[in-house]
Formats: sequence, C-alpha cells, structure tokens
Amino acid sequence: MAGNSPRVGVLALQGDVREHLAVLSALGADARPVRRPEELAAVEGLVLPGGESSVIDKLARAFGMFDPIRDAIAAGMPMYGTCAGLILLADRVDGAIAGQRTFGGLDVRVQRNAFGPQTQSFETGLAVPALGDAPVHAVFIRAPAVVEWGRDAEPLASLPDGRVVAIEQGALLGTAFHPESTGETRFHERFLAHVRARRGAGAPAF
Ligand code: GLN
Repeated sequence: MAGNSPRVGVLALQGDVREHLAVLSALGADARPVRRPEELAAVEGLVLPGGESSVIDKLARAFGMFDPIRDAIAAGMPMYGTCAGLILLADRVDGAIAGQRTFGGLDVRVQRNAFGPQTQSFETGLAVPALGDAPVHAVFIRAPAVVEWGRDAEPLASLPDGRVVAIEQGALLGTAFHPESTGETRFHERFLAHVRARRGAGAPAF
C-alpha cells in the first residue's frame, strides 16, 4: 500500500509541524518533514503549519526554499496552510512586518492577528457546509482572517461578522484555525483528496 499512499510534506522550518505529520500519517499518507528543496521535490503536496509567518518567511529564504515553494504553487502542487500557513499562501497581507513576504497563490487579503489583543485565542463551533453537517471545532490562536477574496477563491467558512476563516482556490486550501490540534481530520482529508486528484490527472512529478 505504501507505494499508493500520497507522499506529502509538512514545511518544517518553524511551527506545529509534528501535529500535522501525526494527522496526515493517521489518514494513511506517507508524511514527512520538508526543509530542503530536494525534500520538496519528493512530495506531491505540502502543508504550511501554524507558527509565526514572518519567521517562516525568513527561514524559507535562508534555507533556499522560498522560490522552490513559489514554483511548486505555480505548478499546481496542492497545499494546505493553517493560520501562519494561510498568511503565507495569501497574495496580500495587512499587518505584515517590514519586508515580510508571502509565497502567495491565494487571491485573498488576510489581516494578521485579526482578533486583537483581547481575543488572542478563542474556540468556536463553525459550520463548514463543504465538509458535511457536523460543525468544525475551530481553535483560533493569534489568528488571521480573510477580509477580501477574488472571484476564483471560494470561502468555506465564515464567522458571524462575515470574515472568512476557511477558503479554497483550486488545489490551495487555507484555514485561519488549527484543525490539527483538535482531532478534526476533514481539512487534511480534503487536502489529500487534492493530491490524489492531481495524481489521477496524470500530472508530472514536481
Ligand atoms: N499570528 C501569527 C502570524 O502572524 C499566526 C499565529 C498562528 O499560526 N497560530 O504568523
């Protein structure tokens, strides 16, 4: 079976790498940490974990990973970003630190630390119709929110105030919260479905 398992990576420069590896492995994926371009070239999809987006950006450049990840996104590699990972997939960021860059690919504007100092962390039950009837138990930790999105980006979940906290565009998926820490597996399954679909379409290796 191992040969058929989706080979996926978790960008392992900073952040909650282990939690994502555990969820992906539990779902039957061949999941490994990715730190170097050769490791990226060996996977079919990549998770960008939560952490600190400005730090992951700096480390990606220091490790020679920035351009390879951008190129992989442009080539259609499925990616799933949680929290800081969502920021890294966004084309536009409000509240970025000076010089902070993102890989981009999602035609969205995110606001960093969108919930202010009073509400740095909170949990809520979130309706995500694309994942079925059961609500998602969503944990937000100094989370961003999507405040604008382009026509090709499809919001999957919003808060009562209208801000979007889960979004998808083609093979790119982003959530402002952390399913990897609550036993929620449906977003990771959706990411793996993108990987399988791309393989089924006979896509060349990256
Ligand atoms: N506030 C962090 C950032 O801007 C994201 C927090 C998280 O990933 N839990 O990168």
